[in-house]
Amino acid sequence: MESGSNATHVIDPDGNVMIILQNANKPFAASSEESNPPKKCKTSQNQEFRILVSASHLTFVSPEGLTLCTAGSVNITADGWDLEAFLILLRICHCKHHQVPRTLSLELLAKITVLVDYYECFDVLRFFADTWISCLEQDFPTQYSRDLLLWVWISWALKLPALFQQATGVVINQATDSVTALGLPIPQKIIDNINRKRESIFQYTFATLDNLQKSLIDGRKGCSPGCRSIMLGTLMIQRRSNGLLTSDGTAPLAGLKAGDLVTKVGKLSPPAWHPGHNYFSKCHEGILSSMTSELKLSLRGLDLQYQTT
Ligand SMILES: [Zn+2]
Repeated sequence: MESGSNATHVIDPDGNVMIILQNANKPFAASSEESNPPKKCKTSQNQEFRILVSASHLTFVSPEGLTLCTAGSVNITADGWDLEAFLILLRICHCKHHQVPRTLSLELLAKITVLVDYYECFDVLRFFADTWISCLEQDFPTQYSRDLLLWVWISWALKLPALFQQATGVVINQATDSVTALGLPIPQKIIDNINRKRESIFQYTFATLDNLQKSLIDGRKGCSPGCRSIMLGTLMIQRRSNGLLTSDGTAPLAGLKAGDLVTKVGKLSPPAWHPGHNYFSKCHEGILSSMTSELKLSLRGLDLQYQTT
């Protein structure tokens, strides 16, 4: 057994296992344009950290930890983990709760979640995760960003349905292009479902507008031929002027947010008057608002329970 005095970090002074952490603090969730770590980021890829822990407490870390612990007093090697995240997880496993921060950054929570995913020890984290998340969700992003992908990862890994739907909903509404997992262990099927849902909103929106026009032509919407005619004309003119109708009838996907597209449809205004005796009818307004309500429902994020990998 190595002497505890060699340790760079001591979780348990009476520990019998030295964890050797190599290549610590690797770049994390780097977007393609940020594939090189920022200069201010401290990387420790040539530095080795030696963390003294107790084998009996590592039994929380399963199944990998259980295998390692049966070897008794040994050195074990971990590779590539974020040092701070790793130390927090080990302190939790060793019941050193007074040394665990009550609040932490989204970044650090995402890194810890990667560790508990790898070691399959979600239950160890549950209490602290709930506390950390309740603080962090006050600043939940409303625009597409790297942070949003971190939320998708955390809510997926920790199985938090409301947060997962919220996070995927913002991605679907606010991304201007297909998204990637940024190297996070989000299953590719989840990423595919997000991108597919985003694209389907464009198709659904244009199909809904087309169907409304058909319904007016076929006499299935509107209260009279005059009512239908003026609604149809108004709709076609406004689609053209608001960029909701392209020359080939297809949706321009690149650079467009699905949420913005639905907002545009919501701003279509009914004709200024209604033909016939009932000049102030709510007929046209009702037709547009029922269509908009339907479209807004399509913007919801993914249901966690239906995601299979
Ligand atoms: Zn009418």
